[in-house]
Amino acid sequence: MKHVTIMGIPFIHTNQKQFVSLLVERIAQRKKTFVITANPEIVMKANEEPEFMDYVQQADYVTADGIGIVKAAQILNNPLPERVTGFDTMMQLLSIANERRYRIFLLGAQTETLEQTIKTINEQFPDVEIVGSNHGFFDWDNNDITNQIQQLQPDITFVALGVPRQEKWISENISTFGHGIFIGIGGSFDVLAG
Ligand code: UDP
Repeated sequence: MKHVTIMGIPFIHTNQKQFVSLLVERIAQRKKTFVITANPEIVMKANEEPEFMDYVQQADYVTADGIGIVKAAQILNNPLPERVTGFDTMMQLLSIANERRYRIFLLGAQTETLEQTIKTINEQFPDVEIVGSNHGFFDWDNNDITNQIQQLQPDITFVALGVPRQEKWISENISTFGHGIFIGIGGSFDVLAG
């Protein structure tokens, strides 16, 4: 897989459609996958905080989330095809999940937002199976959520805890899961909830 490295972060050289196809392939192969869709804020944070850079380096794929990253790649004479955002990746995965009846888990946001997000997904993607969910203001020392995900084995876990909590949570817990896509999607539940 070709990469473009910007400030120490290896961005996958792909477009939105190809990237979603890659994730679908990984689901079929039951390959555990950690995805970060990195905007300039993430790049800066990783360069300022070594602990955060460690989380970023653990990801299987880092995509260019935003025109700022695409522009930076262009300036470095190593262009990336286009931006690959967390929100678009989530929506395209939900659309395929609806066709293939994927099992998904939603983690993050306020309870009300999460409930509205579930409602929206049920309306727009009725064949997606939401196997579990949890709001994003939980006690980090409690293993209930990890235990649930271990048992449910969702195909995709959308993690909407904001930066850097979502990357930290995935990094710290992914080794306990068997398979599935784990992707940080920031404020996307707020958008879906409307
Ligand atoms: N969030 C959460 N737990 C927290 C902090 C934030 O679930 O401890 C949620 C928040 O409700 C929102 C999402 O994370 O739905 C994104 O939050 P924010 O806008 O602060 O992060 P950013 O978009 O800047 O990464």
